[in-house]
Amino acid sequence: MIQNQERYIIICYSTSEMLKADGLLRSMEIKTELVPTPSEFGEICSTSIAISGEDRDFALKLLIEHPLGYKEIHRYQSRKMEGLIRSLKTNRITALFREIIGKIEQGKTPTKGEITYLLKTENQGEIEAIFNAADRMRKEIVGDVVEIRGAIEFSNYCRKSCNYCGIRKGCEETQRYRMSQEEILAEVHKLHAMGLKTVILQSGEDDYYTAEMLVKIIKRIKIETGMKITLSIGELSREQYQTLREAGANHFLLKIETTNREIFNFIHPDDDFDHRVQCQKWLRELGYVNGSGNMIGLPGQRPEDIAEDILYFKEMGIHMIGIGPFIPAKGTPFETCARGSVDMTLRAVAVTRLICKNVFLPATTALASIDPDGQSKALKAGANTIMLISTPMKYRSNYQIYSNKNMIDLASAFKAVEDAGRKLPKYLNIIPEEAV
Ligand code: SAM
Ligand code: SF4
Repeated sequence: MIQNQERYIIICYSTSEMLKADGLLRSMEIKTELVPTPSEFGEICSTSIAISGEDRDFALKLLIEHPLGYKEIHRYQSRKMEGLIRSLKTNRITALFREIIGKIEQGKTPTKGEITYLLKTENQGEIEAIFNAADRMRKEIVGDVVEIRGAIEFSNYCRKSCNYCGIRKGCEETQRYRMSQEEILAEVHKLHAMGLKTVILQSGEDDYYTAEMLVKIIKRIKIETGMKITLSIGELSREQYQTLREAGANHFLLKIETTNREIFNFIHPDDDFDHRVQCQKWLRELGYVNGSGNMIGLPGQRPEDIAEDILYFKEMGIHMIGIGPFIPAKGTPFETCARGSVDMTLRAVAVTRLICKNVFLPATTALASIDPDGQSKALKAGANTIMLISTPMKYRSNYQIYSNKNMIDLASAFKAVEDAGRKLPKYLNIIPEEAV
């Protein structure tokens, strides 16, 4: 990370121009970082370039000399949250908690130990203050509207055997399916007709869908609906990520699951931690809106590990962070493990909002699967996105990545939004009564 306290944020007209400008600055040995654009300068899912104060004049000269879509540069001081300390009920909190909240008020990032404290405290006054602060941060930074997206789980074949996952290769009970291009497009059109702006295409790591096939699907979605596309299809080569990005994919969701290497290795017999991080870096370099996330309650996971995850999301400039409880899946090596707790998941959502600020935080399906009110609780704890499950009925029950997976439909999403006292997006073409 650029450690210098004085940072500047460079905004370009488009992602591709931003990437070219970044390449130019790097080629002249200016240290850059691609970061989610701070909310005061741009849209939530856009990316900008951060540089340190000492490089500002040289960078500006280069950007003016080369017409690369440079738009503006801003001095950036982390967002402050005036009045946070004042709102605390002082008789119910410790001095350390006050100090940590003071840092957040000043726009500083708390240390790993301090984040761990926020995740661990059992002091009711402090817990209440964490949720209130996260809700306020959410309201001030991303507003009251809940982003609604549709997820199509288009294949449950997978070449990997992640120990937690109900569609892992070794899971013999799973009935496998693959959706054809026409089937996928038919579902995309349904989402488009509802007015949704983003479709998520998710699957196991299934080599049947070559990059060439996916390019055709992406291009058809773009031409026929103009929707934004999120891919969640696992680890690929840099070239494949690039091909899909150039075809029109906008976002990519590849969760780190945990930053604790030992746990990562234990749960992923086929994966390498450094390679997963490398994939995430490629996605960032290629200009994807970069999604990651973790599972809460993995075997052996401690609050310290979750604190490290949150710092990883911050340092990697992740835009979308899916935080869900681990839920044991039938027929997997982790079938008899305990599931993650609702309380810790909500706490992790709240603390992530406080640390990562201008990001998409989904109220996850996993949370809704273990608590019927899980999504409205997450929306009150800092979340701002809901993903509808839009997989055709005949396939849905076979995408059981964990047991008793909840099927989030429009009616349940509307209920969660209403229960949380939030707003539906104006782009929806369907009103709540029609969804029931
Ligand atoms: N194969 C792709 C990948 O792994 O990134 C996308 C599909 S995978 C099923 C999507 C997400 O499901 C994973 O990132 C993981 O967090 C979540 N998942 C899988 N099994 C789970 C379980 N037992 N409990 C909670 N989440 C689970
Ligand atoms: Fe496959 Fe993803 Fe499940 Fe791992 S988590 S087994 S890669 S679908």
